[in-house]
Amino acid sequence: MTSYHPEPFKIKMVEPIRLLPREERQRCIERAGYNPFLLRSSEVFIDLLTDSGTGAMSDRQWAGLMLGDESYAGSENFYHLEETVQNLTGYKYVIPTHQGRGAEQVLFPLLIKGDGQYVLGNMHFDTTKAHIELARGRAVNFITETALDTAREHPFKGNFDIEAMEKFIQDKGRDAIAAIVVTMTCNSVGGQPISMANIRAASEIGKKYGIPVVMDSARFAENAYFIKQREEGYADRSIPEIVREQFSYGDAFTMSAKKDGLVNIGGVLAIKEDEELFRRCQAMVVPMEGFPTYGGLAGRDMEALAIGLQEVVEEDYLAQRISQVGLLGKLLQDAGVPVQSPIGGHAVFVDVGRILPDMPKTQYPAHAFAVALYIESGIRAVEIGSLLYGRDPETGEDGLSDLELLRLTIPRRVYTDNHMRYIADSISKVYAKRDEIKGVAFEYEPPILRHFTARFRLVD
Ligand SMILES: *Cc1c(COP(=O)(O)O)cnc(C)c1O
Repeated sequence: MTSYHPEPFKIKMVEPIRLLPREERQRCIERAGYNPFLLRSSEVFIDLLTDSGTGAMSDRQWAGLMLGDESYAGSENFYHLEETVQNLTGYKYVIPTHQGRGAEQVLFPLLIKGDGQYVLGNMHFDTTKAHIELARGRAVNFITETALDTAREHPFKGNFDIEAMEKFIQDKGRDAIAAIVVTMTCNSVGGQPISMANIRAASEIGKKYGIPVVMDSARFAENAYFIKQREEGYADRSIPEIVREQFSYGDAFTMSAKKDGLVNIGGVLAIKEDEELFRRCQAMVVPMEGFPTYGGLAGRDMEALAIGLQEVVEEDYLAQRISQVGLLGKLLQDAGVPVQSPIGGHAVFVDVGRILPDMPKTQYPAHAFAVALYIESGIRAVEIGSLLYGRDPETGEDGLSDLELLRLTIPRRVYTDNHMRYIADSISKVYAKRDEIKGVAFEYEPPILRHFTARFRLVD
């Protein structure tokens, strides 16, 4: 076997991108208040803000758009999607939604039956946590402690600390718990996978105490690929078999199809066999997302999604996807840039806390690095650190995140390995000049979700 994976596709249509001259990049980021979120995409050369909805569809998916059946009820594309999801996951009841959070807003209020009930997770994604809290639940995480040490190698940093979770259930009592949410891969700890053994163990806890298990499955195929690579007993199993086993341990799943669904918009809510829960979801989806056979999607979008879900479990696709992200990680490691290890499925996380240890956290070192990186290279990356974390709501204290990370999120089937080399090179250049990186201070600090719209100046 070769040590690299050539892209298992050839390019039929191209979207030109342009690197603006350095002085123009300087002007753009200044005009954007030194906040990459406020850049126009035309000012960005390589966009690593997110892997959500940014992937490229295949020729088959584009052809599928032409088969859109835009009937309000009973669209043919719905039945294609339903059958595809049933075959892939073994779940009986399938409801399309406009994206992942659409599924969350329908499901969580039905699972959380009393104020203050807990929803236990390995690490809840932001919108999942928000919908749990909107339904008056409380989101608690039981991620394995190895996840928080970026330098420590562990094949499954998305695992639950099962013992801690069970102890919590015993302490609070079964009735205080609404659900267990298994997030695969674990986005909030860097796209790190969860092992099959750990999914099974979480599911056994659910069964033992009669607690429903929900799979938050945005990156279910990437997780399956890691299981195949890293977990004993799975090397010879096919990806569809592993995917099916993963889902077999849940009672319901929510899915953001903007990731492993390989579409630009879409989501799924599915229930394995609980007909009553399905009926209640179906009733709620109408006012929130739309009639249950379209759930906020056009017929053509459902068709593209049905095809995307078949393509994403192809092993040569996954091998190239994961190895491309790994390539970027390895190039950075070879250049001596500290990154989270092992490399996750959809992104590389640069540990800026270790690059700029003396910059105060209240000058947001990883954000400062992102600004310097844009000026150096036209690359847009995103801070995952004290800026994103926000202030303590009671004390107003700032600079609280344990880690100051820069996330380089790789869109699916969009950039080539040569782009990865350019990214690694540009980061190495900024890293070499790290003493010149200036921190940032607020010119405008929004009261909530401040990172999206904040404006800054450079600190001298
Ligand atoms: C993206 C994501 C969501 C939310 O999905 P949207 O499609 O963005 O609404 C939920 N959970 C995880 C793990 C995600 O990555």
